[in-house]
Order: sequence, then structure tokens, then C-alpha cells
Amino acid sequence: MSTQTAQETAHESMFEAVLARLDVAAKLMNMSEDVATILRNPIKQVKVSLPVMMDNGKIQVFEGYRIVHSTILGPSKGGIRYAMDVNQDEVMALAAWMTFKCAVANLPYGGAKGGIKCDPRAMSVGELERLTRAYAQSMKDVFGVNKDIPAPDMGTAGREMAWILDEFNKITGEDNPGVITGKPIVIGGSLGRDAATGRGVMVNTLAALKKMNLNPKEVTAAVQGFGNVGSHAARLLSEQGIKIVAIGDHTATFYNEKGIDIQAALDYTAKNNRVLKGFTGGAEIKPNEIITCKCDVLVPAALQNVITEELAHSIQAKLIVEGANGPTMPEADSILREKNIIVVPDILANSGGVTVSYFEWVQNKAGYYWSEEEVNTKHDEKMEVAFAHVWKNASDYKTSMRIAAYITALQKIEQGVTLKGNY
Ligand code: NAD
Repeated sequence: MSTQTAQETAHESMFEAVLARLDVAAKLMNMSEDVATILRNPIKQVKVSLPVMMDNGKIQVFEGYRIVHSTILGPSKGGIRYAMDVNQDEVMALAAWMTFKCAVANLPYGGAKGGIKCDPRAMSVGELERLTRAYAQSMKDVFGVNKDIPAPDMGTAGREMAWILDEFNKITGEDNPGVITGKPIVIGGSLGRDAATGRGVMVNTLAALKKMNLNPKEVTAAVQGFGNVGSHAARLLSEQGIKIVAIGDHTATFYNEKGIDIQAALDYTAKNNRVLKGFTGGAEIKPNEIITCKCDVLVPAALQNVITEELAHSIQAKLIVEGANGPTMPEADSILREKNIIVVPDILANSGGVTVSYFEWVQNKAGYYWSEEEVNTKHDEKMEVAFAHVWKNASDYKTSMRIAAYITALQKIEQGVTLKGNY
């Protein structure tokens, strides 16, 4: 194992895993140790207890977080996750990834992330609304249109963003649509935002296939996760002629070598509580088999840590495009490299969402709204530039695209630190 891959495996937690990769990149690009020291320490960590009246008349207290990792390149930006495994270490890692993601996509933002430890699927709409409003209240001094701008992540969507905006507007006494992105269109959302992360996955996939001299029309793909990112990615990839042979969510996983009809899957989930269980467009396979199934492109678009060291040995795909945050464990990275599998890393591959969130914020500030075509064109341009930048760094520094993406981000962050100066 090379020194680089050995360092990549040195981690004890999700945040440590981020730092391990940062260290590899920092060393390769000869970055100042001072900048690394700054980035090892999130600038703000808020943990709250949220008492919420449940439908059964009893109070339940939920754990909530907002962690601002960096504001070196601008106000912090990052989603809010509702899931049972939300914890401080995970939110810290996700916040740091946002710092790097925004820098890779060349957005004038730092990074943050929020989360509530809860199971949104087991809660009523009323319970979720009360919880979300309590969270917004608790973060009134953290969020701000030029300070910290949240957005949706796993388990949240436009509905939760609307509640948070409403709560924030009540606190400030004015309409501040730019304080949050991923909003429904009628209250200041951007056209194209809903599909943006999946669209970014598609643009990055096409860019990588071109470098690999592969014709999208002769390529197959497997997409894990059929939520916001996975369903749009599967649809957009299939619209490009890529044959989607496997899809799956937390309820069921399907394989069909002839290709899955993605529109049929979308129609099915729309009528089936947004889950794939019971879909008949493919043979049901075990959940993990989607990672190792026969396909050219693997798009993990559900959870973190799904590409383990063990599974990495059996992966057949030539290209992995990370729709989810942190789907590949650091131990697996080195195996994928040895197998010459190209990995378009999360901080590049799923940066389409935050890119269109940035466009939403710009439109909110200007009070002038763009057409969907304009949003998509600007998005695709930004993604292509970011991909080219990372690809060049991978070649210049003879490293993986993941480390090259960190280098791309760190080059900008280091400049920011130098220009802004210190105490
Ligand atoms: P979502 O809640 O809309 O969808 C998540 C999907 O993952 C669902 O289909 C769910 O069934 C599936 N899933 C959950 N557990 C699973 C399991 N054990 N096996 C297989 N599938 C499982 O969430 P999302 O917004 O699509 O986010 C997915 C990932 O993408 C997360 O890592 C998130 O951080 C990342 N991401 C999202 C955005 C965005 O704009 N929504 C942007 C960047 C990154």
C-alpha cells in the first residue's frame, strides 16, 4: 500500500475520515499547515434539545445540530438532515464536505450542515411541522441570508424549507426568502432546483464517460437510492441513452439486464408512498447486490459508507459517480484505485444541488427569477468547469479524482485565508 493510501485509511470517525483525505491533499499540494489547522476545527457547533408535543399528547425531546465548518469563502451553506443516525461527528463531517464542495463548484460560500435525530417516516405531518419550527426557532441566531443558509438534505424537502422560512420571517418581521434554499417555487424557490443534484450527477457522468472514451448509449448504470438525488439521476441518465439496469431504495432493489423503465418506476413510486417495494420492472435482488452488480456506472445516491472494503473487491463498474455524501469508505478508496475504477467524488459529483441553491439565493437577492432553461444552462457550465478543473488536478498531481477535488477546493480556500488574513 502506498503512503497516500495508508494515510487515506487512517480515520476513527466520519470527520476523521474527512481530515485524513484533507491531509493527503494538503501534503501533495504543499499547503500551509496553518490552513489545515483552521480547517480541522469547525468555527461554530450548536447542539439543541427540542421538546415537541407529539400527537399522543406527550412531549418528546429531539436532538438537533447546526455546525458551521467554515466561512472563509463566504456565508456558510449546507442542508438539514432528518435521520435516526444524525450525530455530532456526522454533521461535522457533512459540514466540512460542504466547505470543500462549495469551493470545488466555485461558489462564494463556506460550509455548514444541520440535522435532527428523528425518524421522519414514523412521524405525522403535524409532528414534523412542530419539530421543524422548533428547530428554526432554536437556530434564529445562526441562520441568516448573508450568514448561514440551510437547504434540504436526506429526510427533508421543500415542505420543511417553507416552514423554516415562515418561522424565520416571523422572527425578523420581514420576508427573507434567501435565508433558505430548496424552497417550493411559489415562495421563492428556483426552477431546476429539485432535479439539480441528479442533473449534476448526469453531467459529471457524461464528462467522465467522454474522458474514458465510452459512448453513453452503450453504457449501463445502477443507481442506489430512489429519493431526490437517485430518482432524478436515474431519469436524466436514461434520457441520455444510458441503460439503467438496477435501482433500489430502503424497501427493495431490482435488476433488469434489458433496462428498467425509469418513467414506470417514477409513476409507481408516485402512487406508492414514494417507495419501490412491489415494483415489477425487474427481478428483486439483495440490497448489497446493487453495489456489485454487472454494470458500467455505479451511482450510490442513498447513504454513506455503502461501498465497503469488502464490497469494493467485487465491484464490476468502471466508473462510480457519488450522488450521496460519503458513500465510499476510505478503506475502499485504495482498492478502487488499484482496480482502476474512476470515482467522481461526492464533493464534485453531487455539487449540482448546492450550485442551483446558489442560483436560488442569487435570484432571491435580485428579486428576479430565471427560466428553467437558463438555470440548467448555467448549472451545466459550472459543473463542466468544475469537472475539468478536478480532472486536470488529478492528472497534474497524479492522484485520484477524490484527492484532486480536495486539492481544487484547498487551492481556493488557501487563497481566501491568505487574502483575508488573521488576527
Ligand atoms: P432522500 O431522502 O430524498 O432519498 C434517500 C433515498 O435513499 C430514498 O430512496 C431511500 O429509500 C434510500 N435509502 C435509504 N436507506 C437505504 C438503504 N439502506 N438502502 C438503499 N436505499 C436506501 O435523500 P436525497 O436528498 O436523495 O439524499 C441522498 C444522498 O444524497 C444523501 O447522502 C445526501 O446527503 C446526498 N445529497 C443530497 C442532495 C440534495 O440536493 N437532496 C445534495 C447533495 C447530496
